[in-house]
Amino acid sequence: MTWVKRIIKLAPIKSIAFERVKFDIQKLENPSIEGIEYQQGTLQGYTLREALLEHWGRKCAYCDAVNVPLEIEHIRPKSQGGSDRFNNLTLSCQRCNQNKSNQSIDEFLKNDPVRLDNIKRHQKQSLRDAAAVNSTRNKLFDSLKSFNIPAYCGSGAYTKMMRIKSNLPKTHFIDAGCVNALQEVTLKTIQPLRVKCNGHGNRQFVTMDKHGFPRSCYAPKHVRKDWKAGDIIKVKKKDGTSVLGRVKKAAKTLIFIPFRGKETSFSPKNTKPIHRSDGYRYSFTTIDSELLQKIAT
Ligand SMILES: [Zn+2]
Repeated sequence: MTWVKRIIKLAPIKSIAFERVKFDIQKLENPSIEGIEYQQGTLQGYTLREALLEHWGRKCAYCDAVNVPLEIEHIRPKSQGGSDRFNNLTLSCQRCNQNKSNQSIDEFLKNDPVRLDNIKRHQKQSLRDAAAVNSTRNKLFDSLKSFNIPAYCGSGAYTKMMRIKSNLPKTHFIDAGCVNALQEVTLKTIQPLRVKCNGHGNRQFVTMDKHGFPRSCYAPKHVRKDWKAGDIIKVKKKDGTSVLGRVKKAAKTLIFIPFRGKETSFSPKNTKPIHRSDGYRYSFTTIDSELLQKIAT
């Protein structure tokens, strides 16, 4: 919400498009897999597959293979009474799916207890995630409507359809542009600004033991008044050039991480403020070259 407010101040925003992430628990608990396989390519068929892809990290759950066709896989095989519910499903490559065939997961992964444990833990998470998303998404959309700007709501399946129609690769910022798009999307930039919520450090003055008694005395973290960790500054170097970067620690000298290059310390005299730390961390994401090529073609 903070960012919606900020962006509205800076740019003439005419409408807000919001992707209402849809986890229909009822449907996910009881999906008809056959039906979904038939509907591949249509709007409806995306939902379960997309939810599984998102949940299991777009890779084979058993061998981590990426960029291969992934099949919907029953963790507890159907022949042993496994259900079609969302939390009994994962994704695997064709080879692993065939190797596992009718074995139970304990049998199939008996030589890899770490992976077995991970999959079981992840499996338990599945519906908790869905419930959390479901309970917040409606509230968020209601809050967005309070800005007196028309707010429209799209689904994840529609976003994916528009992205594929526009022939663009999958990344978060491209997906954001495709939410509720009315026509094909053309890319005007390939460098998104990444904003990460970082917080303002620690409010706690002293550390406490388990009984609540102070263990250490109060040691102020920010000793300098002019700079603090997180500020973005410009530092003038001895050779006359200047570099941009973020303050990591502000003490007698500044420990400073340039956006390009290695961490160094500087005297605070030769610095100029660019942006005060506001609890967010800004960076330009680097797009991998493979993606760049896809966009270029
Ligand atoms: Zn595999």
